[in-house]
Amino acid sequence: MATPARTCVGCRTRREQPRLQRFVRRDDGWSADGARRSAGRGVYLCGVQCAGAVIKNKRFPGLGAFAITHYELQDTHMSD
Ligand SMILES: [Zn+2]
Repeated sequence: MATPARTCVGCRTRREQPRLQRFVRRDDGWSADGARRSAGRGVYLCGVQCAGAVIKNKRFPGLGAFAITHYELQDTHMSD
């Protein structure tokens, strides 16, 4: 059985898709695509460390900051 693999744009590592978070770029900015079904150009990150790696990447303006906030919010929920 084959699990789809995607490449993280932060560290360029290929991982199984369920281990990555998908982010989709919209007209008004980035959104986290939990269901991986949103239309649009999606990119994948493995974690907050890779979000930091794309902050200076001009191909994905705003993605790093958005993803770091996303992961920080997840951490907050987990510690509730
Ligand atoms: Zn990564």
